[in-house]
Amino acid sequence: PPAGNPTATPHTATVANVPVDTRHWIAGARVTSATHAPTATFTDHSPIDGAPLAEIARGTAAEARAAVAAADAAFPGWAATPPAERAALLHAVADGVDARAEELAAVETADNGALLRSHRHGVLPRVAHNFRYFADRLLALSRPDFETRGHTNHVTWDPAGPAVLITPWNAPLMLASWKIAPALASGSTVVLKPAEWTPLTASLLADITHEAGLPPGVFNVVQGYGDEVGAPLTAHPAVRRISFTGSVPTAHRIATAAAAHLTPCSFELGGKSPLLVLADADLDLAADLAVEQYDNAGQVCLAATRILVEESVRDAFLGRFLDRVAKLTRGDPRDEATDIGPSIHPRHVERVDGFVRRALAAGAEALVGGAPDTRLSDASGGNYYFPTLLTDVDQDSEIVQEEVFGPVLTLQTFPDGDEDEAVRLANGTRFGLAATLAAGDRERAARIAARLVAGTVWVNCFYVRDLSAPFGGSRRSGIGREGGDWSFDFYCDLKNTVTAPKGWSDHG
Ligand code: NAD
Repeated sequence: PPAGNPTATPHTATVANVPVDTRHWIAGARVTSATHAPTATFTDHSPIDGAPLAEIARGTAAEARAAVAAADAAFPGWAATPPAERAALLHAVADGVDARAEELAAVETADNGALLRSHRHGVLPRVAHNFRYFADRLLALSRPDFETRGHTNHVTWDPAGPAVLITPWNAPLMLASWKIAPALASGSTVVLKPAEWTPLTASLLADITHEAGLPPGVFNVVQGYGDEVGAPLTAHPAVRRISFTGSVPTAHRIATAAAAHLTPCSFELGGKSPLLVLADADLDLAADLAVEQYDNAGQVCLAATRILVEESVRDAFLGRFLDRVAKLTRGDPRDEATDIGPSIHPRHVERVDGFVRRALAAGAEALVGGAPDTRLSDASGGNYYFPTLLTDVDQDSEIVQEEVFGPVLTLQTFPDGDEDEAVRLANGTRFGLAATLAAGDRERAARIAARLVAGTVWVNCFYVRDLSAPFGGSRRSGIGREGGDWSFDFYCDLKNTVTAPKGWSDHG
């Protein structure tokens, strides 16, 4: 069946048999855009077959102002709501996500093209978990008092005010919930601006928060393009926090807008992470980890796209990798058997292919993919890109230095035993989001891991992590850390209350 809905009318659509209201959600009501220039809506397409899915409200500065005003008006009441009550409401949101998980998974797959089976079994459970985790964590928040000459220093987390959350298209609901849950738990109110290529599940989440009983204005959604509605949100003086996940160029724009009011920002940005394969590694495990980097058609910020192999095991590793790649099934993401689905948009495929063409022209050799017909332009709408592995690439070349955000990996080697060179290559980009290490010797792995510049280092694993641990990027991969108490530190104003031992009427 087609993913699309050719009969969609402005502001309502049925996607994967699920009705979606595609207007903004402001102050507990559905609203259309007040100004209709140049058009009141924009069309959202499915990456599966290119078919139109829905007509989405196209936000302007007027909706940005209305949503911030709603969040600002709701803030005092929400901040004063006892933590246990806020936590209970977040649990109700999690229950709503669970109850509608199948619908959310189907709509997300139609909208962003990621595998239905990973939405079902990985992403949606995680979205619900994000809400429950931060609700429970809120109730456990505490730090031991400090003592100074008999004075106690008592630290509390005060809600900061309206938070603007801006998210990308590669994991829409998961990345949004990773921000929404701690922001709401903190007592902040929220304006979410999802990516224009994947607006649908944010709209369904608005329904879920409403059914869960969140008061009007506590959670708002505005739809539209970054420059039209995202920019005025980030420049608004009443906004007290901006949390952004997306690309480095957009982060520059947001930081510039935020500078006007010194609005604190959290940035989760791009990466060009390494996968180091040491000679003593379990090479089957190493090959499994390498092939995993093609997940979501490579559209994963954390993807370890630069494979760095110790020279003597290059061929043994490569053989195992190629065996696995040959078994990957590419196709419709709704099919349980599919391993690699479509890329998000024909324009994005163009961009990915441009990186590969320029690398080949510069002398790279394609060990996987790289043929002239590397893109399928049949009924798929041209969005399915072949997995690609390039070798003979220089450390300072574009393909090694720039984030491709597609199913494109590079293979480099380092001389046996030369840990300095391994670390030099691994750390040799302007990014520092993550690093993965396949190793057999624990001491050697620990020694190398300690030298890597990365927010997360995975050793003989990938992607697993505890929600209490800090998550974020070093260098150009981001500013700040989210997760556990770090999220509360960001969304709150920390306050230290210093109390003297003297002056008390009960003690003289
Ligand atoms: P993008 O920067 O193009 O867009 C992200 C969001 O910013 C969208 O909602 C967009 O509408 C909005 N936006 C654009 N211009 C804006 C402006 N001037 N003001 C305010 N908002 C604006 O990124 P993308 O292409 O959607 O996402 C891919 C990027 O996201 C990649 O670089 C990827 O690595 C990164 N990413 C990072 C993480 C992480 O956790 N570090 C996770 C996922 C994706």
